[in-house]
Amino acid sequence: MNKQVLVIGGGPAGLEAAGQLENLGYKAYIVEKSDKLGGHLLKWDRLFPESISAAETLQKLLEPVGHITTFLDCTVVSVSKTGEHFSVQLSNDATLNVSAIIVSAGFSLFPAEKKEEYGYNIYNRVITSADLEDFFKTGSDSRIQNPKSVGFVHCVGSRDEKACNRQCSKVCCITAVKQACEIKEQYPDADIYCFYMDLRMYGRGYEDLYLEAQSKYGIRFIRGRVSEVAEDETGKLVIKAEDTLSSKPLKITLDLLVLMVGMIKNADNENLSSLLNTRLGDDGFFQSASPILRSTEGEIAGIFFAGASTGPKTLPESINEAKASALAIHGYLSKQK
Ligand code: SF4
Repeated sequence: MNKQVLVIGGGPAGLEAAGQLENLGYKAYIVEKSDKLGGHLLKWDRLFPESISAAETLQKLLEPVGHITTFLDCTVVSVSKTGEHFSVQLSNDATLNVSAIIVSAGFSLFPAEKKEEYGYNIYNRVITSADLEDFFKTGSDSRIQNPKSVGFVHCVGSRDEKACNRQCSKVCCITAVKQACEIKEQYPDADIYCFYMDLRMYGRGYEDLYLEAQSKYGIRFIRGRVSEVAEDETGKLVIKAEDTLSSKPLKITLDLLVLMVGMIKNADNENLSSLLNTRLGDDGFFQSASPILRSTEGEIAGIFFAGASTGPKTLPESINEAKASALAIHGYLSKQK
């Protein structure tokens, strides 16, 4: 067949899509703006709910990529479509002529410093879920010193009009439960609190992990928002919250506060959507042709989507969508002469 397909974004969805396309007999190219393939998975340690190694998962995704032409530190500069073909100019001056494009540009993490009330980048012991995962992976973070009390704040930058992001990020409730259990394994004496609005444990095995977090690890789940974070003279954090189930105000002293940052659009979505002549939703994620029957297809023939470029997704969802997107491209290109 030898038709060529461009994959924009070398995270898990892009890698899976490129591998599937090569299996189907197409020549895939990956363009990745950073200097490494793997996206957010590169920085993760263990994956919920079964604690699978992120590094091994990434290794498996990278296996078919050895012989795929990959452009790192590279972005799309211009796109023009003539008939059924796209001419794509890259920032490294290469020009690709392709029959289809997959946008797998992924997501960004909400910048926690924007929620000043939680004190990220103000107080030393306030970290994000991504920082904590990096600590699990590397074993070092000067802010984490044998904590005896740890709090997790759910929905930081998600479900929050003030943060301009109304939607749920889907993964952070279960990530908080996973990370809380991992902290307890490393520091068995620590008291651990999760502050949530409501818990969204919708995936297979998630509810079991949540129950285990309470029965085996003794983690306390408190329904209520943290309203204030301050630092005392010893450097510990003093947080105020309200337990909305008992209607009681709470004041708790913590050694570490972990902010569960949500998934937001990539800052370059706007530029990419204008280059591709595609639409973005109000949330800044790419808009597919139909959210149900054509969720991997764009409104322009030949443009396809995979992974979190169209909204928050779990890793398995992103990988499955990448497979579906490759198959949709196969159907589309099979009809061309
Ligand atoms: S998954 Fe949980 S923590 Fe994340 S935005 Fe949804 S409700 Fe909030």
